[in-house]
Amino acid sequence: MSDYSAFSLLKNAFSGHRNWKSAWRKPEPRENYEVVIIGGGGHGLATAYYLAKIYGVRNIAVLEKGNLGGGNVGRNTTIVRSNYLLPANIRFYEYSMKLWEGLSREINYNVMFSQRGVLNLAHTPGQLDEYARRGNAMLMEGADAELLSREEISRRIPGLYTGQDTRFPILGGLNQPRAGTARHDAIAWGYARAADRQGVDIIENCEVIGFIKDGDTVTGLNTTRGEISAAKVGVSVAGSTSNVMKLAGIDKLPIESHVLQAFVTEPLKPLIDTVVTFGAGHLYISQSDKGGLVFGGDVDGYNSYAQRGNLPIFEHVAAAAVTMFPNLSRLRLLRNWGGIVDMSMDGSPIICKGPLPGLYLNAGWCYGGFKATPAAGHCFAHTIAKDEPHELNSKYTLDRFFNGNELDENGTGPIPALH
Ligand SMILES: Cc1cc2nc3c(=O)[nH]c(=O)nc-3n(C[C@H](O)[C@H](O)[C@H](O)COP(=O)(O)OP(=O)(O)OC[C@H]3O[C@@H](n4cnc5c(N)ncnc54)[C@H](O)[C@@H]3O)c2cc1C
Repeated sequence: MSDYSAFSLLKNAFSGHRNWKSAWRKPEPRENYEVVIIGGGGHGLATAYYLAKIYGVRNIAVLEKGNLGGGNVGRNTTIVRSNYLLPANIRFYEYSMKLWEGLSREINYNVMFSQRGVLNLAHTPGQLDEYARRGNAMLMEGADAELLSREEISRRIPGLYTGQDTRFPILGGLNQPRAGTARHDAIAWGYARAADRQGVDIIENCEVIGFIKDGDTVTGLNTTRGEISAAKVGVSVAGSTSNVMKLAGIDKLPIESHVLQAFVTEPLKPLIDTVVTFGAGHLYISQSDKGGLVFGGDVDGYNSYAQRGNLPIFEHVAAAAVTMFPNLSRLRLLRNWGGIVDMSMDGSPIICKGPLPGLYLNAGWCYGGFKATPAAGHCFAHTIAKDEPHELNSKYTLDRFFNGNELDENGTGPIPALH
């Protein structure tokens, strides 16, 4: 319990902080595991943790080609919310929200979950109607939602321009008070430490370079650290899904990889104490504990596996930010980066058994897989352990794209860059 107590801090200060115990072991890979999860992002680590903790699987490895936190789990803008319209999505993300609410205690690691609210701005009467509908759908599924007037928004967020003399005047907004932000790397490290304590082998710098199969059945993996056999293999590699699945012989998936960028300004005194999204374009903005404004917008519209983006998107999101908050116009940008997001054809995820015997897939998280981490880990663990979906991921099948049961939250059709 007291790994990071005041006493340990003091004790370790006397030895120049050189003697801290590693938060997780660095085991050599064994030849055989019951379950191997490919991908040491938030989802892979959470899956391994719940597999061991809830489903009692004892012989588990997580294989990560780089270091923990180098993928999207360490690159996102950390927004956690469950403000969806479709029942399958609200139920799944609301379950995730509930897990977030107890997560620091569950994994004994401060994930800095800050329920500061997420406010979606409406700029047309039609959009306000749509938000009212979405808010009602959320309330009916037990999530929280409130429709705010322009006056109330102006009172709560004084820096936001709510005058009506602009191209995109703010008419109101949909707020989810329990939504907010969390600390991205705490999720990777917290789940890693908790999984390690359940006996999970976390093997970093171990890239999967091939699948070993008996006929169609996956029986193991070729990795840069040798051959590993496994009764079950879970793929949880986010933006690398198509590349890794190709190694298994699956070369057509309803997923495209795109770059999504994030931006951080120089630090300011507290200005925005919630998360705000612009409804006439795509921008989400919040303020980090260090004072920087953290924001992002659309994906770069071309397919890519590069963890960096291009300037047109920056121009687009910066313009939206200044439209909402004109007082930001003279701020300097401190840094930006990109991550590879796995955009599905309907904007909803896939958590399923298959598509080959012995193989399980968790993918298609688009912009929103960080907030899903606890529920995705739990539901993927359930699917692997029980060989059938949890009721919360029963709609997140791969074959919905073939039998017409897509979950198209935005109604934008099969154009991944628009979801
Ligand atoms: C800029 C940006 C902003 C975002 N903002 C939000 C947000 O505000 N809210 C939200 O909910 N979501 C957000 N997301 C999405 C979210 O970050 C992802 O959906 C989620 O992190 C994906 O799951 P993961 O953490 O497991 O992925 P990752 O951390 O990417 O984990 C996948 C891992 O698989 C590893 N891997 C790949 N290939 C192999 C291989 N061959 N062998 C072994 N390992 C391999 C990778 O190295 C990587 O570490 C954002 C994403 C980006 C890029």
